[in-house]
Amino acid sequence: MCQFCHQHGEGKKWYLKAENYAEHLLSDFKRSKYIQHFFRDPQRLQDRMKLLDTLNRMPGFVQAVIKPAILGRMKRMHHGQVLPLEDVEKIFSFVNSVVRLPCICRQAALGTEERYCYGLSMVPAETSKLKLIVEAVGADYLTGPDVKGLETVPKKEALTQFKELEKKSLFHSVWTFMTPFIGGICNCDHDCMAMKATVKKSLPVMFRAEYVAGVEADLCNGCKNCFRACQFGAISFSLALEKVYVDPLLCYGCGVCRVHCRNNAITLTDRKMNSAAADIW
Ligand code: SF4
Ligand code: SF4
Repeated sequence: MCQFCHQHGEGKKWYLKAENYAEHLLSDFKRSKYIQHFFRDPQRLQDRMKLLDTLNRMPGFVQAVIKPAILGRMKRMHHGQVLPLEDVEKIFSFVNSVVRLPCICRQAALGTEERYCYGLSMVPAETSKLKLIVEAVGADYLTGPDVKGLETVPKKEALTQFKELEKKSLFHSVWTFMTPFIGGICNCDHDCMAMKATVKKSLPVMFRAEYVAGVEADLCNGCKNCFRACQFGAISFSLALEKVYVDPLLCYGCGVCRVHCRNNAITLTDRKMNSAAADIW
């Protein structure tokens, strides 16, 4: 179990605790302001990436002081955790509405409207305070005349969309807005700012899933489809064996590689049962 399960999930997976999605948490004025501020200015995310680059060029002792402080704030305010599709399905079984919206990361990085993010609510979308707060931001990329706006999507359809995104090698991550309130699930790849901060800039703001992948060697024909799909570089190919293997120290447990394996050679297992990866988040 990760630290968030211990802190916010009473020892169970914290993102499966319905209370962490409760709309009454949005009555906190600071939280609703934080959400508005978060969505208002995509460019701000790009600026933060540049600041991280600057930080990474500083002497090690400076980084050793500043990075834990940033990380501590992210854990309190806006952190994410990777999760596989089966856990997305469990979340969808108790939330009552799903609203698709443009991804702020893609807006910042590419300047395009990529609809990879899904706001979740315990109440129907028409009465969701979260939807109202985001609508009130007034940013063009969210609700402007030339974009699709905030779309309410039936849960079944949303799951189908998630499966399609996995086929494009995107993985799922669940996100807080002032922890423990969970506001949504995103579908991420290398354009995701959190992915960049975590994997490329050594600031882990997105934590690993509660799982780790493994390959059944007898079933693997060495086609490398999984190798190409893994966003985390966790899969290697053995020339000698002509098969792949997963490095549990690098695996984020997203499960995307499974979708790309026609031989069903890949399975996810509980991270805590894997001695090499149990304590790596
Ligand atoms: S996709 Fe499956 S069969 Fe192909 S290399 Fe990966 S594990 Fe082996
Ligand atoms: S090896 Fe791990 S990180 Fe890579 S796609 Fe598979 S589950 Fe995700």
